Amino acid sequence: MYKVGIAGAGAMGGRIGTAIKQAGYDVTLIDNWEEHVNRINEHGMEIQTETDTYTVEIPAVLTKDVSEKFDLIVILTKSMQSEDMLQHLQEIGCIHEDTAILSMMNGLGHEERLSKYVPLSQIYLAVTMWTAGLRGPGQLLLEGEGSIDLQRADGQNDERTDFILNVFNEAKLNAQISQDVFKSIWAKATVNSVLNPLCTILDKTIYEVGSYEASNQMIRPLVEEIVAVGIAKGIDLDAQALMDKVESTYPKEAQGLHYPSMHQDYTNGRLTEIDYLNGQIAAYGKELNIPTPLNTLITHLIHELEMKIQ
Ligand code: NAD
Repeated sequence: MYKVGIAGAGAMGGRIGTAIKQAGYDVTLIDNWEEHVNRINEHGMEIQTETDTYTVEIPAVLTKDVSEKFDLIVILTKSMQSEDMLQHLQEIGCIHEDTAILSMMNGLGHEERLSKYVPLSQIYLAVTMWTAGLRGPGQLLLEGEGSIDLQRADGQNDERTDFILNVFNEAKLNAQISQDVFKSIWAKATVNSVLNPLCTILDKTIYEVGSYEASNQMIRPLVEEIVAVGIAKGIDLDAQALMDKVESTYPKEAQGLHYPSMHQDYTNGRLTEIDYLNGQIAAYGKELNIPTPLNTLITHLIHELEMKIQ
């Protein structure tokens, strides 16, 4: 039977893993958080939606104890945990030569880091509009609808891409094969690189950041910096389209009332994914000789804030 491992089974891993399990697949959640793993094994994953509460029985295993081989591994750790996770799964033999490794994490450069451990031809990239939250160990809060765009990281889709698509769509996750997943990844990373750090530094909701009368003067140059780096990396980006995308999140009836995940991570005393957003853009800028003073400054500001929680 086709075996699916969800490597990093927090909020999003929990959402994707339980959806695939409910579609009848053999799914194992793999995670380092002992209390979460124990609670899932004892009580199932407890799910609260806007209209319903239910439990999905699904096996969970601590990363150090995993021993199965998987056909598909979905990586949904936080970005900074992904290399340790993949290296471990590789070393203990959970990955065979046909295993598809699918990153659904936010941020940039995952294919470069993951391809240190498995060939690029086994790596798939996805960008998702699904969201998820955790109410506590073993307790998911699921709101709204979403979608998933995916493509093999080297652009050469194969029968495994079709198989993953089928798994996701049987799980009602609304997936499509993308012809240019990097464009979607950079577009989402641009929005995240604007809103996540600004809301965190300013301790404001998305609506509050957007309401500042000169927000455009702050955000436009930041977006233009990201676009310059993206274009130099061969990504087809348009600054105005991305500004529109950022601004579309401001209304209260859109995402305006929310604090982005970086704000939540910081206020919960957890490290952020800044090095995979603005930090990665600054690193690419350095490699390509493109100045990125705004992204560099923002990366340092978030790291300074993180010093308080280390
Ligand atoms: P998460 O924080 O819920 O989980 C990530 C890891 O942290 C998991 O291994 C989880 O078990 C662990 N963890 C969470 N809370 C913990 C606690 N209190 N103590 C110990 N360990 C804990 O992260 P996520 O939101 O699932 O994000 C995973 C990836 O997906 C990230 O790259 C994120 O940017 C991306 N993503 C998230 C969402 C979302 O809505 N949550 C949407 C799209 C993409």
